[in-house]
Amino acid sequence: MIIDIERADAEQTAYWIIFSGDRIVAKKQQQALLKSSWRYLRFIHHYSDQVVHIGELDDAPCYSVDLGLEALPEDEYETVSLRSLFMSQNESVFSTVARAWQLILFRRTHRYCGKCGSAMQQVDWEMAMHCHSCHHRCYPRVSPCIIVSIRKGDKILLAQGKAQRERKMFSTLAGFVESGESLEQAVHREVFEEVGIKIKNLQYFSSQPWPFPHSLMMGFLAEHDEGDIEVDGHEILEAHWYDVNALPIVPPSMSIAGKLIDHTIQEIKGHK
Ligand SMILES: [Zn+2]
Repeated sequence: MIIDIERADAEQTAYWIIFSGDRIVAKKQQQALLKSSWRYLRFIHHYSDQVVHIGELDDAPCYSVDLGLEALPEDEYETVSLRSLFMSQNESVFSTVARAWQLILFRRTHRYCGKCGSAMQQVDWEMAMHCHSCHHRCYPRVSPCIIVSIRKGDKILLAQGKAQRERKMFSTLAGFVESGESLEQAVHREVFEEVGIKIKNLQYFSSQPWPFPHSLMMGFLAEHDEGDIEVDGHEILEAHWYDVNALPIVPPSMSIAGKLIDHTIQEIKGHK
């Protein structure tokens, strides 16, 4: 919801998710969300039409503000990347920041109507942009993605894509669902394309919104059916069956990839 900041309580303490480009404004030396009353954030008044109420966090209201490509001139602030903020925070901060980023992206990319070219306005009672000339209405884009943890006896398949090379991380396989495809078909196709194996006993696990940039990750567990690993060399550079007692660096357990890996390990160890 868009906020009328002239009427807001200046003493109220709130969390502020302030985006400058694709980074978040934080107090210097603190990889944490900004928490402050309106009174101490004088610059907010310059961006009054960009303040959006995102929800509540630890009983305090949470607002997002879009500075666009501008940076704050004040010395006491710096910007941090979304990913680094995610890795250092708990799950409720993660989901709030993820939601804020998706809404900001949505607003930035829907300033004009795709049908008639007029300026669009944000609807104040739902997250939508509306064209008052032709009544075309747009909602934030959500891209369905599958992610799957594959087990073969007491081993787990972990792969490294280009994006993970720098962090030396290995993870579960994932990919976008194509138009006209079911989630299950997408899992079988992605696995075969990326590592050349067939899987069986596909089982739904859970889901997680992932804001890079607007994915909804849908997690599955599966077992190896047939075939040897043969990586595609484009999306996946390396993949191996790992012994659960000798794992490489894997994603944190806050991410759905980390949760899937944890679950598979527990299953292999006979705890589930
Ligand atoms: Zn229009």
